[in-house]
Amino acid sequence: MSPSSLQRLRDAIRDVPDFPQPGVLFKDITPVLADGKLLNLALDAMAEAVEGQRVDKVVGIDARGFIFGAPLAARLGCGFVPARKKGKLPWRTRGVDYALEYGSACLEMHEDAVQPNENVLLADDLLATGGTAGAALTLLQQTGANVLGSVFFIELAFLHGRGKLEPFGPVQAVVTF
Ligand code: AMP
Repeated sequence: MSPSSLQRLRDAIRDVPDFPQPGVLFKDITPVLADGKLLNLALDAMAEAVEGQRVDKVVGIDARGFIFGAPLAARLGCGFVPARKKGKLPWRTRGVDYALEYGSACLEMHEDAVQPNENVLLADDLLATGGTAGAALTLLQQTGANVLGSVFFIELAFLHGRGKLEPFGPVQAVVTF
């Protein structure tokens, strides 16, 4: 991606202080989504991250990971799998619990969503502490799939989340703050 395209994406991400709670600087991606050219640029850059690799499934994390994951899968010509919050998927699931700052959460996938030996890529909108993506990668590893790594639209590098994810495979992000 050219430096000017990258700058356009960066400039379109809106900082919202103290959302959803005091002290959090929320990175609002809706201005990027609302602009067809920018959305296309973001997806191009995410697809570039796995250029030349065979990808069988893109797994997107509930909920903003779906926004990037499904069109990314379509671009790569492969399938899309949602990793959802507990209780949202209709059929038989496998799940993993993970710790949040306060309390815990659970991510689930359908039992048959990913087959052993398939090449799978994790996608989400934003990497912060890496807790959520780390849980999703743990779940993927348990399926016996070949985890290719993870790709994000945004990385908050000062939170050092990638350290948690790199043991599973390469971590790539389009825009880094
Ligand atoms: P984490 O598990 O800490 O890496 O958090 C990642 C998830 O929380 C992502 O799916 C994001 O959608 C969301 N998130 C965390 N921090 C922010 C932030 N500063 N701005 C926007 N979304 C965030």
